[in-house]
Amino acid sequence: MTFIEFNKTFSNEQDVINHFIKIRYNDKLKCNHCGSDRIYKYSSNQRSKLFRCGDCNKDFSIFKDTIFEKSRTDLIKWMYAIHLFLNSKKGISGYQLQREIGVTYKTAWRMLKQIRKAMNSNNKDHFNAIVEIDETYIGGKPRKENNHKKDDEDDNNNFPTNKRGRGTKKKAVVGIVDRENKKVFAKVTSKNKNGQKLSGIQLLEILNEVCKENNTVMTDEFKSYNILKNTNYIHLKIDHTKNYVDGDIHTNSVESFWAILKRGIYGIYHHVSLKYLQNYINEFCFRYNNRNQNMFDLILKQGVL
Ligand SMILES: [Zn+2]
Repeated sequence: MTFIEFNKTFSNEQDVINHFIKIRYNDKLKCNHCGSDRIYKYSSNQRSKLFRCGDCNKDFSIFKDTIFEKSRTDLIKWMYAIHLFLNSKKGISGYQLQREIGVTYKTAWRMLKQIRKAMNSNNKDHFNAIVEIDETYIGGKPRKENNHKKDDEDDNNNFPTNKRGRGTKKKAVVGIVDRENKKVFAKVTSKNKNGQKLSGIQLLEILNEVCKENNTVMTDEFKSYNILKNTNYIHLKIDHTKNYVDGDIHTNSVESFWAILKRGIYGIYHHVSLKYLQNYINEFCFRYNNRNQNMFDLILKQGVL
């Protein structure tokens, strides 16, 4: 959507409400409580998000359980924030959004956090016959040259920096890609208590979240994956010390997702709070998984319970 198209689609708050009714209620507004279609609208502007049911007499908000439900921010500003978020190739920071839509930094930051929350679709249960699984580590010291750029800071709680001799604190992330549907699922996980590496049980638990037994699972030679021998998964391994591809056996799809993710996190956001790392990962999974769909409408109607 271009800026001109955006302005045409959403010239006032009522346009947003109408668009929302179209995508969330299929243009047939129904009571959230009893399902009746005898709906009355409040005429005063202040209550324009609220509707009253003619059957059960209760009020309801068409934005219930979405990121807009509790927000006092103008709906047009929300729409524009989502538009910018999805369209800017370089991503958008809280400072940029603050300037673009004229809200406080705190509000802008919270809006971005909420938009990411609405992107929390990790596409569980949709994984087909062949998957690739791999793990990576994210975190560490932000690149020095970016430290002075205030614009790129998303909050004050950055990656832990390398303090003398303490080593870098990094978070382990496990990713699974469905090779046929090109869908990804990725999850931040804690390192094994005893060491730096993930255990087979940790990897298996994450695999079980999205895969069915009898799936073919491609991995590298990392020995925690040997746990798959004792399961009904079909385990095919590529030994990266020898080869990166052996016919169909490779983990290239999941590795290219890591490249996109890292380029995004280090290149666009520069450093993100490890506390919110899963939210950023959800953002990249959402963009990857829904690349051929109308992401704007998906974000609008996605519930955030
Ligand atoms: Zn009702």
